[in-house]
Amino acid sequence: MGTAFVDGRVFVGNGKVLEHATVLVEDDKIVSIRDTASGLAKDTRRVPIGDDTLFPGFIDCHVHLVMDASPDPIAALAGQSAVITTIKAVKNAQKTLEAGITTVRDMGGKGGIDLGLKQAIESGLIKGPRVLASGSLICMTGGHGWPIGREADGPDDVRRAAREQIKAGADQVKFMATGGVLTSAVEPGSAQLSYEEMKAGIEEAHKAGKKTATHAMGSQGILDALHAGIDSIEHGIYLTDEIISFMKENSVFYIPTIAAMYHIGKMGVEAGIPAWAVEKNNIVTPHHKKSIKKARKAGVAIAMGTDVGTPFNYHGKNLMEIPLLVKHGLSPVEALMAATNTASQVLGIQNIIGTIEQGKMADLVLVKHNPVENIDILNDVDAIARVMKGGQFLEDESYKPV
Ligand SMILES: [Zn+2]
Repeated sequence: MGTAFVDGRVFVGNGKVLEHATVLVEDDKIVSIRDTASGLAKDTRRVPIGDDTLFPGFIDCHVHLVMDASPDPIAALAGQSAVITTIKAVKNAQKTLEAGITTVRDMGGKGGIDLGLKQAIESGLIKGPRVLASGSLICMTGGHGWPIGREADGPDDVRRAAREQIKAGADQVKFMATGGVLTSAVEPGSAQLSYEEMKAGIEEAHKAGKKTATHAMGSQGILDALHAGIDSIEHGIYLTDEIISFMKENSVFYIPTIAAMYHIGKMGVEAGIPAWAVEKNNIVTPHHKKSIKKARKAGVAIAMGTDVGTPFNYHGKNLMEIPLLVKHGLSPVEALMAATNTASQVLGIQNIIGTIEQGKMADLVLVKHNPVENIDILNDVDAIARVMKGGQFLEDESYKPV
């Protein structure tokens, strides 16, 4: 028995929006997209699209499932037992999937919890999105993220650290190229892991067929990561013309994670965020805005990532990033593609997810009304009407993992 989403608007993910389309799902795959609902088998379960819009399952390229969005989440993590962190991560994963995010790329766990969580979801122990896990992020000693990262110094040690993550089951490897906002006593603009160090680590990841990502805010660190062969730049605060043309020519993805800065700026010290973090955030924000606009204008591929888990940046509110991307110059269709097709390319699994096309995995989300015309509707979690992952609705009793 198949399921058909019948007669309505379908955001394919490749730039096209179909009207009066019917999408047929069998088992865990999309088997056809038709312009008529007639001819469906009698026992097909019919889900009318009505006034809603059918989207490919959304993809968030930058989450931290172990972080709890408290005012100082790194400090919270440091003072927490692994059991509590794990229970929180399980809940975070559930909220994420319920919000229509069917795939996430976790950009830094702690003590292997992200890797275990991925296994728990795949084996059906808990409900959650597909997780592409990084294991521990790799940073220099005392560098950004050190309280949860694998500190490594020198090319040989970074190479070893990358091998360790791959051995533990990481889907990609993350390197810290610069300082950042949420670790005290590091500067967002300063370079951290060197070109030689990242080159060794990236080489290891690529040899194992894994993608690489980098926390990179300042220009020198970004350039070092790019020349070392990195596949995506996360945050990217200080993008120069040289950086932008390199990214465009070499098809390096840009994941600005606007929500991270937005929530710190909005909530501030009064909400309990450490003053040093708010101060750094205020300094980087105007540069970030300019960089996103410039990169978009130049045609750099921009993908959605939220950095959820950072202060007041809640798991399950991931889709807020899409209206934020629109505020920073992307068209609604571009921003929605950033969260579907472009994001699937970042992960390197564009043949499996990211668009509504025959043969793709049936990760499908029914969103109320038409977000292309009213993008702000995505700020409301109630806009998500139904979520299907791998051909199964979340609410189905028979839900089995895929
Ligand atoms: Zn992050």
